[in-house]
Amino acid sequence: MPHTITIAGTTHQFEAGEDEPILDAAMRQGLELPFDCQVGGCGACRVKVLEGEIDYDLPPMALTADEEEAGMALSCQAIARSPVVIEVEGLGGGSASRPAMAGPRRVTGRVAALEQLCHDVMWVVLELPDGETAEFRAGQYLDVILPDGSRRSFSMASAPGRGFLDLHVRNVPGGLFTGQVFGQTAVGDAWELELPLGGFYLREDSDRPLLMVAGGTGLAPIKSLLESAMEQRCSRAVHLYWGVRSSRDLYLDEQVARWGERLSAYSYVPVLSEPGGEDWKGRTGFVHQAVVEDLPDLSAFDAYLCGPPPMIDAAKRAFAAVGMPVDRMFADSFNFSHELNPEPLRRIS
Ligand SMILES: Cc1cc2nc3c(=O)[nH]c(=O)nc-3n(C[C@H](O)[C@H](O)[C@H](O)COP(=O)(O)OP(=O)(O)OC[C@H]3O[C@@H](n4cnc5c(N)ncnc54)[C@H](O)[C@@H]3O)c2cc1C
Repeated sequence: MPHTITIAGTTHQFEAGEDEPILDAAMRQGLELPFDCQVGGCGACRVKVLEGEIDYDLPPMALTADEEEAGMALSCQAIARSPVVIEVEGLGGGSASRPAMAGPRRVTGRVAALEQLCHDVMWVVLELPDGETAEFRAGQYLDVILPDGSRRSFSMASAPGRGFLDLHVRNVPGGLFTGQVFGQTAVGDAWELELPLGGFYLREDSDRPLLMVAGGTGLAPIKSLLESAMEQRCSRAVHLYWGVRSSRDLYLDEQVARWGERLSAYSYVPVLSEPGGEDWKGRTGFVHQAVVEDLPDLSAFDAYLCGPPPMIDAAKRAFAAVGMPVDRMFADSFNFSHELNPEPLRRIS
């Protein structure tokens, strides 16, 4: 049977049909809730269930057991089994700010420069058409639209408001598009893009210290976020942990180490998971383990996590176990396109 969904702190109420995901029901009735991948993979549609029962057909990929226990739900997958009251970030009783932002649009970018930063990461600079500046929230990503209509997602590594976009593209073994970037792409090539996308951006209504955790090219959106924060003279303390396999993967190590010159309090800890026989005197192991060894109580932090899905999942569990509230962990999970819905429709309100 249909159930009523109420958004706490607002006058919004709508009906969700039997077996209809809450997000679909909201959109059908003209109410814009945040969303992105629509298959439970990204977490952009995360809401908090304050009252009532929800259920899923398939386990929601982007939620940990801790998050579920804390009442978080993915509205794109959650089906109401009773009248439900939800809290939506940025609407009414939500806990964090969501600055207004234009929706995504298509644009043709030209490859203006290519530079290999390490054995498997290419720095790609995309120039926008004459006079256009890149409008996005630092931390968001774009989709490259391939000739067959399929999409490949990459986070902006540069801060917003410029006439260009920086990307850090990792060469994925067996990957169609990234293989081309490392073999065939040339300066002057045109790429069809859609941006901005995603709900990974800095919540500015908090002055808590920032814990930033990047895995591999997960550094890209963190770089955008921090460069933007530095431009805005952010006074929050930043603790950045960058997990890679070996030291040859630390493709911007010196630049990242220097960010402290422009932040009031900054620590940077690179962590190698497979140091092998190299002469490395720094941290080793999994990046989330290094974090909890150094910061055994995370209750005072906000966390921004970006990288491969297993890293995000492990970090969320480990951080929740040392006191970090699940609704203060924001994540961008670098899934492959075949793991996400290839449908062209992507939007975040
Ligand atoms: C929001 C977001 C932001 C991202 N940002 C970045 C970024 O800034 N930098 C970055 O380097 N990466 C980023 N990624 C990851 C990036 O999108 C992928 O690495 C990229 O799409 C790979 O494209 P590809 O065509 O080279 O690989 P694909 O051809 O899509 O293949 C990827 C891998 O999957 C395998 N594969 C393909 N199809 C299947 C299938 N049907 N079943 C099983 N295996 C299959 C391939 O062999 C290969 O190993 C991001 C991802 C997301 C979701």
